[in-house]
Amino acid sequence: MEKKTQLYEGKAKKVFATEDPALVIISYKDDATAFNGLKKGTIAGKGVINNKMSNMLMQMLEKHGVATHFVEELNDRDTVVKKVSIVPLEVIIRNISAGSFAKRYGVEEGIVFAEPTIEFSYKNDDLGDPLINSYHALALSLATKEEIETIKNMAFTINSVLKEYFAKLNVTLVDFKLEFGRLADGTIVLADEISPDTCRFWDSTTGEKLDKDRFRRDLGGVEDAYQEMMRRLTAE
Ligand code: ADP
Ligand code: UDP
Repeated sequence: MEKKTQLYEGKAKKVFATEDPALVIISYKDDATAFNGLKKGTIAGKGVINNKMSNMLMQMLEKHGVATHFVEELNDRDTVVKKVSIVPLEVIIRNISAGSFAKRYGVEEGIVFAEPTIEFSYKNDDLGDPLINSYHALALSLATKEEIETIKNMAFTINSVLKEYFAKLNVTLVDFKLEFGRLADGTIVLADEISPDTCRFWDSTTGEKLDKDRFRRDLGGVEDAYQEMMRRLTAE
């Protein structure tokens, strides 16, 4: 399988057509952005790590009955996935207060919730991905009621599986963003990526940040944090 026409170039990945109209190739870049593209940079080796990590996690989720877009890893940066029509919602699950949640509600980071929370952002760069509720998503025809229900259930299942998986690696899964898409027959599958770009990972012992917050907040050691996460995932 090889890359044909480039269909899209995003902030972190490129999407290419293939000879099969049902499949696309996702190509992971080292480019990093934050604050809706205001902060730009490069994280050396990030594309390779995010590609491999996302593929490992999606294959693990498949074993737990979660349908994903994953098909085949081609090389360090390129993966064949099922082409989907992306539901324009960023689905955010939180187990612990951090980031925009802490800021919005005026609380410190690190409050462990009794139950995980879910929120949606409308995936629209021009509007800066505004927070949206499920009624607004319905009003804007971004998804059907049934699709929103499916997405919520899948997101909480994914959280349970990932939380337990990372706990064994001494990593606390604080929060993360998911994207879902529709296959040609309407089936909802997990799409996009799961990586240190899209999750907050804290070392369970020291609380050290092992994710993109090191880049967002200029904490240094960005590359090392991504490598450390990959090392733990691939350790025997
Ligand atoms: P952004 O668009 O936010 O800059 P990326 O650089 O990660 O993000 O670009 C990847 C794009 O590919 C995103 O718009 C994402 O929604 C989309 N995408 C992810 N998985 C699939 C898929 N299986 N089929 C089609 N598009 C996908
Ligand atoms: N996130 C993401 N893409 C976005 C916004 C958020 O992957 O465009 C992830 C982010 O990495 C974190 C979670 O979603 O793991 C919650 O992010 P938050 O809402 O706290 O926003 P931020 O602090 O990134 O502005």
